[in-house]
Amino acid sequence: MEILRGFKDILPDEIPKWRRLEETARRTLESFGFKEIRTPILEKTSIFARGVGEATDIVEKEMYTFLDKSNESVTLRPEGTAGVVRAYIDNHLENYPFRKFYYIGPMFRYERPQKGRLRQFHQIGIEIFGIDNPAVDAEVVLVNKTLLDNLGITDLRIEINNIGCPNCRPKYLEKLREYFEQHKESLCDDCKRRLTRNPLRILDCKNKTCQTIAKNAPKITQFVCESCKTHYEQVKDYLTKLNIEFEENPHLVRGLDYYTKFVFETITDKLGAQGTVLAGGRYDNLVEQLGGKPTSGIGFAAGCERLVELMETEETLNIDYYIANLSEDLYAINIAKELIEKTKRSVYVEYEKRSLKAMMKKANKISARFVVIVGENERKNNKVILRDMETSSQEELNLDNFITNEVKRWQ
Ligand code: ATP
Ligand code: MG
Repeated sequence: MEILRGFKDILPDEIPKWRRLEETARRTLESFGFKEIRTPILEKTSIFARGVGEATDIVEKEMYTFLDKSNESVTLRPEGTAGVVRAYIDNHLENYPFRKFYYIGPMFRYERPQKGRLRQFHQIGIEIFGIDNPAVDAEVVLVNKTLLDNLGITDLRIEINNIGCPNCRPKYLEKLREYFEQHKESLCDDCKRRLTRNPLRILDCKNKTCQTIAKNAPKITQFVCESCKTHYEQVKDYLTKLNIEFEENPHLVRGLDYYTKFVFETITDKLGAQGTVLAGGRYDNLVEQLGGKPTSGIGFAAGCERLVELMETEETLNIDYYIANLSEDLYAINIAKELIEKTKRSVYVEYEKRSLKAMMKKANKISARFVVIVGENERKNNKVILRDMETSSQEELNLDNFITNEVKRWQ
């Protein structure tokens, strides 16, 4: 039996990091007033086709789409924003007092699996609706920075760009198309297709030749309209005043169509080619595009696998009490039951009948804080031997006294 290509088990050794990531994210985002939202993993295909954009890599070739038993086309969510926007419209969340939401969960994209690129991966994302104030763009970058700081991830850089809006972008796209048309023969097959469908995406191609050609492509800067420009300049001014370092990258575009004005990425050099850990931006037309009232929006999504990769490893093997069960199982389970109930600590009962020596070896391996030795003698006399693994001291106690002492210990 083999796991699907591009899918991954998250094993117990990695769980503490995942938990710390999720707990830190919840704490950080909630401290900025974000409220969690959980939307379905499966949605109607049209949500993503319209939300993410027909001419994106995601919709063109990366979606897990299939017909359900009533012949409806459904899709495993490839990203979180479209679903949250759908939920915002469906549930009239414009009436909810909070405008800031976050989600954590799995996403699915049929991509070529490689380091840092999976077919099932996880994202932590935020969305803010109905505020077009550039201060919010700056807050989103601040949230991003605070989250990564709280996770202890360093050596990151923030790149930003202005990608304009439906008023000014078409003129730029025309210029881009003209430019890439001259290099058409050297572009990869995907980019040849992007040339007519979505030339902006060529700037984001991972192919080396396309990247070289893209280096000299016209920049959007001189094409953006007054309103996009003012907005972007304001964001930069706020970021500077908040002491958030950033670099401008006029070729930064995002893989999804819905972005407008301000976009950004947080990048590390430690993960090789898959160096973007978090990406986001403004999407002022998405809510309307999905059938809602015109409502501005902004958010980001962070890739959990890439964040976990950058986090310090944590010790996973540890337990408060290891019960060296050398007698009857029931006596051992009863001790565990009392300990768990009264001390709320963790207890591991040994059921593999081995020598005390073998059990002590295991107790060391799993970093047991205490070992409770229960042999035939102890059971008969209603006693235990408690061994403190830190001091290597050991004493025999009545079961009742033992439990009372242990309750006191952790108070
Ligand atoms: P890329 O250009 O690397 O394909 P993208 O533009 O598709 O990225 P987004 O859709 O903006 O990425 O996703 C935000 C973040 O989610 C990425 O920066 C990355 O950390 C993570 N991510 C995206 N796709 C994958 C994947 N297939 N496997 C693991 N993480 C991913
Ligand atoms: Mg992608």
